[in-house]
Amino acid sequence: MGLLWIYPSLLTLHLLTPNQALRTYPDNEVTLLDSMSALGDLGWVAYPSEGWEEISVMDERNTPMRTYQVCNVMEANQNNWLRTSWIPRDGAQRVYIEIKFTLRDCNSLPGVPGTCKETFNMYYYESNNNNLWFIKESQYVKIDTIAADESFTQVDVGDRVMKLNTEVRDISLLSKKGFYLAFQDVGACIALVSVRVFYKKCPLTVRNLAQFPDTVTGGDSALVEVRGSCVNSSEEFDTPKMYCSADGGWLVPIGRCACKPGFEERKDICQPCRPGFYKASAMDAYCVKCPPHSYSNLDSASECVCEKGYYRAETDPRSMACTRPPTAPENPISTINETTVTLEWSPPRESGGRGDVSYNVHCRKCSSDGRKCSPCSSGLHFVPRQFGISYAKVLITDLLPHTNYTFDIEAVNGVSDLSPSPKQCISVNITTSQAVSVILKERKSKDSITLAWQGPERANGAIVEYEVIYYEKNQRDQNYTVLKTKSNSMTVDGLKPGTTYVFRVRARTDGGYGNYGGEIELETSHEDMLAIGDPNQPTILAVSIAGGIVLLIFLVACFVVSGRHCGYIKAKQDPDEEKLQFQHGRVKLPGSRTYIHPHTYEDPNQAVRDFAKEIEASSIRIERVIGAGEFGEVCSGRLKLPSKREIYVAIKSLKAGYSDKQRQDFLSEASIMGQFNHPNIIRLEGVVTKCKPVMIITEFMENGSLDSFLKKHDGQFTMIQLVGMLRGIASGMKYLSDMNYVHRDLAARNILVNSNLVCKVSDFGLSRVLEDDPEAAYTTRGGKIPIRWTSPEAIAYRKFTSASDAWSYGIVMWEVISYGERPYWEMSNQDVIKAIDEGYRLPAPMDCPVVLHQLMLDCWEKGRSDRPKFGQIVNTLDKLIRTPSSLKQLANSSVWQDPTTPDFTVNTVEEWLDAIKMGQYKDNFSSAGYVSLESVLYISISELGKLGIALAGHQKKILSSIESLQTQGTHLQV
Ligand code: AMP
Repeated sequence: MGLLWIYPSLLTLHLLTPNQALRTYPDNEVTLLDSMSALGDLGWVAYPSEGWEEISVMDERNTPMRTYQVCNVMEANQNNWLRTSWIPRDGAQRVYIEIKFTLRDCNSLPGVPGTCKETFNMYYYESNNNNLWFIKESQYVKIDTIAADESFTQVDVGDRVMKLNTEVRDISLLSKKGFYLAFQDVGACIALVSVRVFYKKCPLTVRNLAQFPDTVTGGDSALVEVRGSCVNSSEEFDTPKMYCSADGGWLVPIGRCACKPGFEERKDICQPCRPGFYKASAMDAYCVKCPPHSYSNLDSASECVCEKGYYRAETDPRSMACTRPPTAPENPISTINETTVTLEWSPPRESGGRGDVSYNVHCRKCSSDGRKCSPCSSGLHFVPRQFGISYAKVLITDLLPHTNYTFDIEAVNGVSDLSPSPKQCISVNITTSQAVSVILKERKSKDSITLAWQGPERANGAIVEYEVIYYEKNQRDQNYTVLKTKSNSMTVDGLKPGTTYVFRVRARTDGGYGNYGGEIELETSHEDMLAIGDPNQPTILAVSIAGGIVLLIFLVACFVVSGRHCGYIKAKQDPDEEKLQFQHGRVKLPGSRTYIHPHTYEDPNQAVRDFAKEIEASSIRIERVIGAGEFGEVCSGRLKLPSKREIYVAIKSLKAGYSDKQRQDFLSEASIMGQFNHPNIIRLEGVVTKCKPVMIITEFMENGSLDSFLKKHDGQFTMIQLVGMLRGIASGMKYLSDMNYVHRDLAARNILVNSNLVCKVSDFGLSRVLEDDPEAAYTTRGGKIPIRWTSPEAIAYRKFTSASDAWSYGIVMWEVISYGERPYWEMSNQDVIKAIDEGYRLPAPMDCPVVLHQLMLDCWEKGRSDRPKFGQIVNTLDKLIRTPSSLKQLANSSVWQDPTTPDFTVNTVEEWLDAIKMGQYKDNFSSAGYVSLESVLYISISELGKLGIALAGHQKKILSSIESLQTQGTHLQV
């Protein structure tokens, strides 16, 4: 039977078929054969000869196309074969065959016998031989029987409504060089319009700076593991790998490359740092500006060069500014006592930009006219040492009496040895003096004592004034008084009758104060009477005292003044006299609301004394260990202060074996906390420093830290309760920012919660961000920063301000609303930095009101001046609390899990519960008979209650996950 009836329709059909030139294929498909692209004869073999017939037709652009047709429907027992030419496999193990064909509906052909078919068969034969002329039918492997989705009738053709059938089949695990395809017709009316053979590959791609080559997919459904190679100017950070899936997609990128020093990542390539910028290590994310006093003139600098006169010490991080040697120390004061001298001085005006200034003292012994000097003998002793002194003070002992000495004090720092200029120093001349006699005149009455004294023969400098200290015998710890006078005598009145007082005197010259001398005890008389001694008859009380400055020593015993703070009031005795009064306890800062950094104190212990109350260890009862701090255990216990009620306290102790620096760092938290007084800031009760262990006592917060508290009570609070907590934190932060205190480590883990759900900001130690916080990571600039909580400008260039605290506050909001979820889930710190830089912000947690997410987003504004101030945050939250309806509208995304992790298929109830972090309910489900995923799909909230899942938050979480199971099948996003 001829094919006449079908040709016109085929022509029509071809006009509907896209032209080869216009055909595009996905970039992960490689075509091995395309019948539509053949210009000449396809050269396929058809047998018997009256079966398949090759027909050339024109498409609408007059491009010739090759088709094969067969339509021997009127005759029975058809077995017509059409074999393609040899198709090379090209390394692919699995190939796909896409055929486009039309098939005539038997019913639409008038008078065709029942042998008419509406299917045909497809086969293949693998062979290394590319010019076989004959293959036995039995040698072919059947791929499939192909039926049409759409057969057509003549009427359809006329109306041009007929569609082309497209079928795709695949053959896998090919191993020979190539193969032949064959189409067997057994009595149908078919036009084979196009045959395309292709395989799939995963196309070349760059992921995490590693390039993955074009990769042919595996033979069966297995993944092909591919190792990536680092792009130019990058190096392997962690072996980069990906998997090429059977359908030509890349999956599961692991590992990464990082741009080499001097280069930074920009859209899959590493580009050089611009002049003026540098990147020191591959670990750093971005090129950053050269630190102060350094520059880079060329591209791709891995470090910046110091400006002239500035240096970088070997151990300085490259992120540190270049620095220079310090200027000379200033204002030296010498205090001579017998054959020792104490030298004190002020730090240099310019430290050179460094914190490691130390001092060296050089000694010369000079003739009396000062002209001839020689180095001092080795017999002198320097305490703490002669070179590398850290505090601006040194004691020099074993001087020779009556000798001139010159001490040159030089300040040095870590770059002094790198500078060719001589070190800057200041000189102090002293003369040890001979022994002097001191004479005391005294006159006593029932309420006064008059003292008189005489200066030494040779004072080291002009005497400016004398200072007399006195107190009631055995009452030194309670109260003492200091009087000053310019004269050589003083009447101390206002004393109690018949009471013994202890007096000591020292002098101040223009070289500074001398040491206090010894003590003399004098008793006031019981009755008014004249002094025992005649004022005109001087009494010699002490003799033979060496010292250039210290003038009067009543007794030899030494008295140590410590632990007191003073304020002046005038004494009535003498207009020149001044009286200092000492008081225990905290110093009030009148009208001042500004935080004072403990480092502004030369003596950090003074800061502790000023801001923290000393507590007797005996008033504390330690009960149990509740946590571990950086410096030692944290315990809970009770504190009972005299005439106060017993209270619960937290006790942080400093573990044994600490260094001075550790002690200071530990106590710095108390000197900071002690300056605050606010209901949302953890309250300091006091410190124990006088005995060991050293302790910091604070109010006790029954519910511990906020992050673990929220995790423990997941889903259990109302939104208003959560907002109330946030309001408290914001209020505490407003107080801190008003005091100009920048916290730098605001995070839920550093908020404590008491039994009334009041949240208080804690963690104020100076070293906390550096050492204490396990979240802190090293940054480009060498500092340690809790990346996920820190604003971009603080990470990039340590711009820590109240605005960077506001950013952290936004993260705390997110932590609170998501009940302690980890910000940015398991993303790496680098990825977080990168994502933030690219504008990514944390999505709203599950059930988060839109207004709260908006407030978070406001806190995460890139420009720090665009972020709300804490005062504004408090106001906003107050408004929300007043109008709870404003919290009703929930943010659209109900992301409560990491949207960045790839889709994950769950197959069992257990896997599903683990995936949504509700694994604790596995037994509840299984014992109630919920063993398949399908069985949980229609579970109700009341059913969950019956299963023993009582927490509303957990019920919600499970139900919303079931919803997504319903919509997505088990292809659940986790
Ligand atoms: P810190 O050294 O301040 O980070 O404290 C370590 C841990 O001790 C904290 O995470 C809390 O669990 C606990 N802790 C510290 N201070 C208190 C306090 N005032 N009340 C209750 N627990 C506290």
